[in-house]
Amino acid sequence: MNPRSVRPDVAALVAGVRERRARQLAQAISLVEGRQPQRRELIAALYDATGRARLVGITGPPGSGKSTLVDRLAGELRKTGDTVGILAIDPTSPFSGGAILGDRIRMQSHYTDNGVFIRSMATRGTMGGLAAASHDAIDILDAAGFDWILVETVGVGQDEVDIVRSVDTVVVVTVPGLGDEIQAIKAGLMEIADVFVINKADREGADRSQRDIESMISMAEPPSQKPKWTPPITQTVASRGDGIEEVLEEIRKHRQWLRETGEIRKRRGIHLRLRVENLLEERIVLAAAEVGGLDAVIERGLTERADPYLLAEHLFAEIIAGGHSGEGTSIRGIDHVGIAVDSIDRAKRFYEALGLEVGATEEVVAEGVRVAMIPLGSTRIELLEATREDSPIAKFLEKRGQGMHHLCFSTDDIRGDVETLRGAGVDLLGEQPTRGAEGCWVQFVHPRSAGGVLVELSEPAQEEEN
Ligand code: ZN
Repeated sequence: MNPRSVRPDVAALVAGVRERRARQLAQAISLVEGRQPQRRELIAALYDATGRARLVGITGPPGSGKSTLVDRLAGELRKTGDTVGILAIDPTSPFSGGAILGDRIRMQSHYTDNGVFIRSMATRGTMGGLAAASHDAIDILDAAGFDWILVETVGVGQDEVDIVRSVDTVVVVTVPGLGDEIQAIKAGLMEIADVFVINKADREGADRSQRDIESMISMAEPPSQKPKWTPPITQTVASRGDGIEEVLEEIRKHRQWLRETGEIRKRRGIHLRLRVENLLEERIVLAAAEVGGLDAVIERGLTERADPYLLAEHLFAEIIAGGHSGEGTSIRGIDHVGIAVDSIDRAKRFYEALGLEVGATEEVVAEGVRVAMIPLGSTRIELLEATREDSPIAKFLEKRGQGMHHLCFSTDDIRGDVETLRGAGVDLLGEQPTRGAEGCWVQFVHPRSAGGVLVELSEPAQEEEN
């Protein structure tokens, strides 16, 4: 066994995020935005600290003054001592996020403490990539302990709607006189709005907008939906700070309602499902690229005019086969079965009674274990005895008692296998193979990825390393 080792840069990011340091927060969000492989480790390490922030989404058509509203809301919250993380998501921006960010950084500079953190995300990655990255970024800010997380999006594409839906309260912002404002709201935003804001309400037509939204709400009312929340409509002039307190008040009321009705759990279930589906999509597209089949299948589709359903089926079958045939790794067979025992001396009597020869014991000091190998046909049995109370074997014995501890596959290329397994989304214990008994390189696979069995990969020591 080897202790769980976290790659230093991720460990440093995790520590920095937990202390809410701006530099590490920015680095962590860049890491998930770029969909880098360490994102998984990062989110896993932070996840236990999430779930506490109040998540508010703010969306609406371009020109509705969302950014100003968000900034005012942050300022108002800051007055009460609450901390605020802001994610501004705009994939439609022709700028790489820099333009928006410029204003935002100036705004952030108003706050001398670390009570406000602002980040814009504008890059659109692969399918669903932006949504997945945004969900991860929300987790990062949540784990950093911000009391509020405001997620600002332009409510246009499905990605943006998915992002804004992954919050507790959705605020839909509109302005009077936007010709297509109602159409824009009707197109997907209506049913997700918890609070409506008519911003720039000092303009002509604010009351008409109010009436339009009211009539839409009453028309859209499902007759028997329970529990029921009727979205309130508030009017603001965000540039002057008018109506900001009222918007906050409605957000707080909605949150109260979510908690009292138990609706919050239902919502979080929907968000989690959305997110898992999202990652699954990301995973499958990645796997298709990894089996090298995507380009070939597209080519085939073009030349043979095969239908897209057939192409997707074909590719999916290939991914599944790749995952099961073991073609992707250099596994040769079962090297040994590890059995945890209280005492090797006592346990070996049984094997000697079977007429098997029990090898000499060897101690792996780093892992607090003593092992004895018993050759059996082309494979072996490994008896494991703890030498320290805090060793993994001691803990296993304490929790589960004596019994089968792990299954070890022999391989010729452990490093290659580790890469392949990691690429296939398999959970590994530790980042890199470490030295085990007999000088072998070993790598453990988490039981949750291997049907409940702890799996060890082992590559025999090279000649020159003996
Ligand atoms: Zn072993």
